[in-house]
Amino acid sequence: MARERIISPKEQTTDVEPSVIESSTHSIRPTTLEQYLGQAELRERLSVALEAAKDRDDPMEHVLLYGPPGLGKTTLAHVIANELGTRAWVTSGPALTKGSDLVGTLTRMEPGDVLFIDEIHRLPAAVEEYIYPAMEDYKIDFTLDSGMHARVVTYALQPFTLIGATTRAGLLTGALRSRFGIVHNIRFYETDELTAILQQAVIKLEMAPIDEASLHCIASRSRGTPRIALRLLRRVRDYSQVRCHHRFDQTVVDRALKLEGIDDMGLDTLDRMYLETLATVYEGGPAGVEAIAATMGEDAGTLQDVVEPYLLQAGFLSRTRQGRKITEIGQKLLKSGRKN
Ligand code: ADP
Repeated sequence: MARERIISPKEQTTDVEPSVIESSTHSIRPTTLEQYLGQAELRERLSVALEAAKDRDDPMEHVLLYGPPGLGKTTLAHVIANELGTRAWVTSGPALTKGSDLVGTLTRMEPGDVLFIDEIHRLPAAVEEYIYPAMEDYKIDFTLDSGMHARVVTYALQPFTLIGATTRAGLLTGALRSRFGIVHNIRFYETDELTAILQQAVIKLEMAPIDEASLHCIASRSRGTPRIALRLLRRVRDYSQVRCHHRFDQTVVDRALKLEGIDDMGLDTLDRMYLETLATVYEGGPAGVEAIAATMGEDAGTLQDVVEPYLLQAGFLSRTRQGRKITEIGQKLLKSGRKN
């Protein structure tokens, strides 16, 4: 079982998950493209697609977003719906077990609505087949009755935009991938971009003003991920309120994050344990992720989605044909960590 981490970019899920829910507004979530900070290239592509669609009174192109969790894929679906003046319907691949799970929503959607499917790589094949004609021709085929009396009835849908999100673009079938007009990789954010996201959040959360250096300090330890930055901001806010009479400066940030087990690089116990395992048990690698996961007692999927992307991007880890290898910088980081 994957344990919940303070810096886990995955959002906590509820036990009972309806297969599709209509969007609700989240207080910190940006609602316009202007409030959606960073990702300049993606924003430019989307603003062109949005304007063109609005001018022609057409639905917007289907969009596939790929990248690690917590980088703003769900948020973008809400932003797009809001910019189009329509609604967003949110679901995920594993919640849709059969084609009919989608029928209710697809038939209830109004012209131009947005359907967001998270973890689209986990969509069962039967549901995927339903989606093809829906995406291409805005229609779905139902089979009524069975055996000799079986007949296929075609139902026309309102034009809509599908936004698919995935952490593993490589697992998507070519057939599904080719049906998206816009395919974009959401990248990790720069520290300055995260600082700006935090500044925006401070205003939305109606917190007292915080100096830029403190926000920068949180941003630099957020592994390039807005969800982590926002979660750390809340942890530091609690600490400052309870332990420091509401003082909020770099020393308070340092103390609060140390208490949460986060080091100067923003790595937490799970990241360090991954690097330690690779360095000691596997002598630096190469080693397969399944083997590393088994040694750590973790789920290989969690390591691939949540731990590895940032370690790779930060240069602590490299991926070779033979498996994962710790880099020289990764070794140095472990050595300096052991000294402290
Ligand atoms: P994902 O769907 O990729 O896992 P989310 O869309 O849920 O990520 O984003 C996580 C949080 O980060 C959201 O609460 C949102 O407010 C914030 N966020 C993400 N991207 C941005 C951005 N570009 N600008 C401002 N806030 C963002």
